[in-house]
Parts: sequence; C-alpha cells; structure tokens
Amino acid sequence: RIILQDIKKSFKKTAVLHGIDLEIQDGSFTVLLGPSGCGKSTLLRIIAGLEKQDAGRLIIGNEDVSGLEPQDRDIAMVFQNYALYPHMNVRKNIEYGLKAKRVPKEERQQRIDSVVKLVQLEDQLDKLPAQMSGGQRQRVALARAIVKRPRAFLMDEPLSNLDAKLRSQMRVEIASLHKHLGTTFLYVTHDQVEAMSMGTHIVVLNGGSIMQQGTPREIYTNPQNLFVAQFIGSPP
Ligand code: ATP
Ligand code: MG
Repeated sequence: RIILQDIKKSFKKTAVLHGIDLEIQDGSFTVLLGPSGCGKSTLLRIIAGLEKQDAGRLIIGNEDVSGLEPQDRDIAMVFQNYALYPHMNVRKNIEYGLKAKRVPKEERQQRIDSVVKLVQLEDQLDKLPAQMSGGQRQRVALARAIVKRPRAFLMDEPLSNLDAKLRSQMRVEIASLHKHLGTTFLYVTHDQVEAMSMGTHIVVLNGGSIMQQGTPREIYTNPQNLFVAQFIGSPP
C-alpha cells in the first residue's frame, strides 16, 4: 500500500496541495485525474521522492519513506518525456538502473531478455533513442522501469507526446502490462477517456484537493459535485 496522510505542499507562498489523504491499494491501477495545474505531478514527485512535502506522512509498505532518497524507495517513475539517456543504446538504457542496484551481470541479462520480449523491443537493442519512434521510446522507458521490479510504478502523462492512434494502442498495452505484472500503478493524466478506460480506481483532483475517488463506474454514475460531473462528462 501507499498511504498519504495530510500531505501539504506550497511553492513560495502559494499552496499547491492542501492536505491530501489517500490510500492506494496494492495491485490497483489508480489514476490521478484533474485539470492542468491542479497538483498531479507535484503529488507524484513527492511520492517518488523528487520533491519534499512540507507536512504530512508518506507510507509505502509499512515504512514512512519521507526521509528516503528516490533510489531507496523501491518505486519506478516513467516520465512524459521518457528521460532516456541519449548517448546510450536501448540495452544500456534498460541496464543502467540494474547496475546501480548491483544486480549481477547474468541476472541483468536474463531480466533484460524477458522485459524486451514483453514490450516487443527484441530487435531494437542496439538503437539509440534518437533513432526510434515515440512509441518505441515510450516502450524503452517502460522496460527500464519494469526491469527493476519495483513495488510500484508512477507514471506522469506517459502518452501525451504520442499521436492519437499510438496513444490508444499504448493505453491497451499499459493496461495489459498492469494485468501481467500485478504491481501497483499510479498513473497521472488530465484525459478523462484515458482515466476511465485504464483505471481500476480514479482519484479526481482539483485545485490541490481531492474532489472524489472511486471506481470509474462510481465516479461516472454518481459524481459528488458539479466539478466532477462536468470534468468527467457524466450525464445530468
Ligand atoms: P499539468 O496537467 O499541466 O501537468 P499538474 O496537475 O501536473 O498540471 P503541477 O505540475 O503539480 O500540476 O503544478 C501545480 C501548481 O504548482 C502549478 O500552479 C504550478 O505552477 C506550481 N508549481 C509546480 N512546480 C513548481 C515549482 N518547482 N516552483 C513553483 N511552482 C511550481
Ligand atoms: Mg503535470
């Protein structure tokens, strides 16, 4: 589980997160959904350890991880811009995090072989990121996260740089990856369709506060306020 208790964050004097209480269940595909600027990325970055909360507790598994560096939290983040190393080929990009974790060479090899099959990159291992399409780069970014076998995946609008056709294809692929791995996914998007089609659980954020959470069906059929109804496009 990932548990957030009264997480607060301000930049300068502007409050961006107003005290977020949230429990993310193991194995769920939880979507953080909300308009631009509502604090989704900030919340994800706090969970990843890339940003420090001003107040509140953050528990992963059974430990308060607030004092832990990102690499010690055992979670993987996938970014919108992929954040691949441009000078490393696909194999090296995927292997990098395993070397940092001191996984032995033979096991690195085995894990890479299995992950590239999973994301269909077997024949791309020697390419540099610049020689690949957006969808292929996104798969490399996914492979790099999966190969570390983290206890959770955090994804910040990972499909927003792809064209509509590839985006809908990758939605299906990521959802099936989630099924296959059974690991917790926390997925940020401002796209209602994406949230509804991928999430087992949706958390609607607005202005740094949680407006509602529940299954896609609950949120669609029973929006708790006008904001959620309008944002989701529920029937009146
Ligand atoms: P988007 O959908 O556009 O990515 P978001 O929901 O991810 O939006 P955040 O990036 O979390 O939004 O930003 C929330 C608010 O915090 C915004 O008003 C933003 O300007 C502000 N903010 C984020 N990071 C910083 C920072 N490093 N310094 C100052 N303000 C920041
Ligand atoms: Mg964002």
